[in-house]
Amino acid sequence: MLDTKQLSHYIAGEWVEGDEFTEVINPATKEVVVSVPLANQDKVDVAVREAKRAQKEWALVPAPQRAEVLFEVGRLMKEKKEHLSQLLTLENGKVLEEARGEVQEGIDMAFYMAGEGRRLFGQTTNAELKDKFAMSVRAPVGVVGIITPWNFPIAIATWKSFPAIVAGNAVIWKPATETPIMAFELAKIFETAGLPKGVVNVVFGTGSTVGEAMVHHQDIRVISFTGSNETGSHIAAECGRQLKKVSLELGGKNAVIVMDDADIDLAVEGILWSAFGTSGQRCTACSRVIVHEKVKERLEEKLLTDMNKLTIGNGLESENKVGPIINEASLEKIKKYIEIGKDEGATLLAGGNELVDGDFASGFYFAPTLFTDVSIEMRIAQEEIFGPVVSLIPVASFEEAIEANNSVTYGLSSSIFTNDVNQVFKAQRDLDTGIVYVNAGTTGAEIHLPFGGTKGTGNGHRDSGVQALDVFTEWKAVYVDYSGKLQRAQIDTE
Ligand code: NDP
Repeated sequence: MLDTKQLSHYIAGEWVEGDEFTEVINPATKEVVVSVPLANQDKVDVAVREAKRAQKEWALVPAPQRAEVLFEVGRLMKEKKEHLSQLLTLENGKVLEEARGEVQEGIDMAFYMAGEGRRLFGQTTNAELKDKFAMSVRAPVGVVGIITPWNFPIAIATWKSFPAIVAGNAVIWKPATETPIMAFELAKIFETAGLPKGVVNVVFGTGSTVGEAMVHHQDIRVISFTGSNETGSHIAAECGRQLKKVSLELGGKNAVIVMDDADIDLAVEGILWSAFGTSGQRCTACSRVIVHEKVKERLEEKLLTDMNKLTIGNGLESENKVGPIINEASLEKIKKYIEIGKDEGATLLAGGNELVDGDFASGFYFAPTLFTDVSIEMRIAQEEIFGPVVSLIPVASFEEAIEANNSVTYGLSSSIFTNDVNQVFKAQRDLDTGIVYVNAGTTGAEIHLPFGGTKGTGNGHRDSGVQALDVFTEWKAVYVDYSGKLQRAQIDTE
């Protein structure tokens, strides 16, 4: 499926071989897929130097022409969609249907951001003095650093790199070491699409070397990061010391609220899809279900019945709906939370165990898990588990449901199932999250809307949507005085 056994960095338009390597493991089978090089500080320095040189010229290319390259990137991704999807399943484990969805997100982002080449709107406004013109324009930032996680190895990279490129920046991209293949494939697409050398550079390596080198490099002016809160807050502190712009998209503890008037069958479908899709390893995954006590039993019953029908296994086999967990460390983290939940007094209704029999023995698999009678202060109701584990929290009213939703330190996504229009509008107002769904699960963001969250989910920036351009541009205010004399603002206003 992959035409090489060893990946190379992509720096200044050249394929640069590595010295040291680590192996990429297919989480469904524990087989080695490919070797990925691990760069050191020197490679980052070279990449940034070349990116800086390339960016100066790229910024002078008219934006509609920059966009032409993105249109071609989108076309090539579309042409290679099936190939990319299969490789994505191979390195990440998510089932093929979801991998195709993720690649499609990247294709959509390419065409959407290419369209921005003819917009990138600024504002014209009135000056306060006669014969004077005022406007604000978007200017590229320069060289930007993109650090991405393993759970969406291509979509997240497109949310960040495509707006950066169309806005006239050059990019240094460090993908997660677990999932480098999508970065390698996307670099090939950039090359084929005719992106000038040095505008995008892919440097493979660990967070502690390549990531740190990027964060500390004085010529990288922005860091856009998606991943854990721990790493995100560390990066923010380092960037803060350097007064470097940083955009963070971190974790979630997302809830589906099921009210007493909800369509229970629909709610269960929404919960299953958003809780167990990608084996719960999405930042928007549903990991809490806040249920009105009047429908708690009905919901539990239906959830248990339908959870039993979930087919688990290698994502390349089309009958499977839930794939493996990314690696041993994640599996251990999930197991630890099962013990925490039991110790806290939650009732385990289903799952709670690693799957080890038969074919499961050759991968990292965990049974879809349901806890009930969970209260909001329990750790399993507060902390990100990042696995197929759902906690049911019973409540007695709409107000209590909103309070339970907002009781966590995260604020990414939330959802409510109800047919009461008044509750719908109150919920979209009162749910303290960056994304709200009504009568749908907590996942399924569309790329032309802003993606990100409140509170501990980030630092106020957004991925995707037109808002992503704010991360990768500086606002410049321009005043043109055509009076032929010196006019002093705030003074010569008569
Ligand atoms: P990390 O946040 O550690 O990794 C995300 C990215 O950051 C990777 O590319 C990683 O590199 C890089 N990185 C790690 N340390 C540094 C550093 N000091 N400086 C710069 N870059 C760095 O997440 P993990 O993969 O370790 O996952 C742990 C937990 O994080 C998960 O269980 C989950 O709770 C959460 N998570 C949340 C995600 C989300 O979508 N919001 C996505 C992934 C994880 P490398 O891994 O190659 O060393």
